[in-house]
Amino acid sequence: MEKTEKTAAELLKEKLLRNPKNGGLRMGEDEIAGAFGFCAPYMEFLDKAKTESEAVKATIGILEENGFVPFDPAKKYTAGDKVYQSIRGKALVFAAVGKRPLSDGVRIVASHVDSPRLDLKPNPLYEDSELALFKTHYYGGVRKYQWAAIPLALHGEVIRKDGTAVTVSIGECESEPVFTINDLLPHLAKDQSERKLKDGIKGEELNVLIGSLPIRDEKISDKVKLNVMKLLNEKYGIIEDDFQSAELSLVPAGKARDIGLDRSMIGAYGHDDRVCAYTSLMASLEATSPEYTWVNVFADKEETGSKGKTGLDAYFLEYFIADLAKPHGIEGRTVLANSKCLSADVTCAFDPSFPDVSDKRNNAFLGYGACIMKYTGGGGKSSTNDTDAKFMGEIRMMLDSAGVIWQTGELGKVDQGGGGTVASFISRLGADTVDIGVPVLSMHAPMETVSKIDVYNTYLAFKAFLV
Ligand code: MN
Ligand code: MN
Repeated sequence: MEKTEKTAAELLKEKLLRNPKNGGLRMGEDEIAGAFGFCAPYMEFLDKAKTESEAVKATIGILEENGFVPFDPAKKYTAGDKVYQSIRGKALVFAAVGKRPLSDGVRIVASHVDSPRLDLKPNPLYEDSELALFKTHYYGGVRKYQWAAIPLALHGEVIRKDGTAVTVSIGECESEPVFTINDLLPHLAKDQSERKLKDGIKGEELNVLIGSLPIRDEKISDKVKLNVMKLLNEKYGIIEDDFQSAELSLVPAGKARDIGLDRSMIGAYGHDDRVCAYTSLMASLEATSPEYTWVNVFADKEETGSKGKTGLDAYFLEYFIADLAKPHGIEGRTVLANSKCLSADVTCAFDPSFPDVSDKRNNAFLGYGACIMKYTGGGGKSSTNDTDAKFMGEIRMMLDSAGVIWQTGELGKVDQGGGGTVASFISRLGADTVDIGVPVLSMHAPMETVSKIDVYNTYLAFKAFLV
């Protein structure tokens, strides 16, 4: 067919109007294969990092393999030095010192490595009607009805009576048992079905089934409870009182999986926000001789409001930067005032089954790349870090010149709900800060879904920012 000339209006449209396009059309086939390849080790990372502690441990392993050493606040670090600081094993700060003086500012990427889950209560173990169960208290924004009748694994740490610690993990290997929360059969769910969805399973009904076999002794009560405690004691050397000095969590059991016949997506527990942690980690490892010093933060407690010593409302990031700058005779605040930050956390992808919660013109789409959010918050942008046009302009130019596929988005329709993340805890230190992240379907569900194209382009965005 003969090629027809474009009309003046067509050319004008190309010049003046936006033309968003799926990353699958914008990337070459080799590049898409590369993105899929990038995601294979990410899926392995997710399988190893189901709690913040496991994520920090796995990351320190990767950092040490790549020449990062524990940070010593008394030392003066210079260009090319690579350090990390574990914040009580639950959060992590790591950095590579750049060629420019610290007074020129640093590049900060901040994500979080905690995810919604079910924590055991301090006195979790009980027997009722000859079943042994654990009482739980949910952590983060959990839609409780989603957690019944699925396989769960137990992860965490117990401090025994003598002060020794034992790490617990049951339910991830095929040979190990899993646990589950019971739901009603439809035949008898007449009353439950009338409940509001948020109460489909109530908080006090999130009880985890852990045993049904009694210990063989006619004389004692709670035979099933004693039997499971005996098994826990044999495996971990713990007694019932040890639960009081423990952090044990139920998380969805099993591995990350490809989703779709085209294998273009990943279904897994905890993309929020280990997807930003992992992609920023991979970018960091390729930015070890940076122009500007970069600081990468994996925070804890984001899902409960960033409070506590390992959440970003604490001072560890500010202190780390002050300690890094002090031997150079520079104040931490001087560094921060000239710093720039990508606050990295997932956002909602448009879901065609629930179109009413989003403004289609201003929502992230799966496969359209990393999502930049100028602001988050709820209602009239309440509690948001609304970045300025100047910094948005800088980020836009940086991403475009690096060929990153990216989009902008808001978290749903105005007044539909909303949310926020760690951006405000960093912008208050004076750094230019904007939100970036991977669009997610079924966010906070036991299985969340992301696009491999988006995961890869978020990594490219971090790389453009850090190198
Ligand atoms: Mn998050
Ligand atoms: Mn979240």
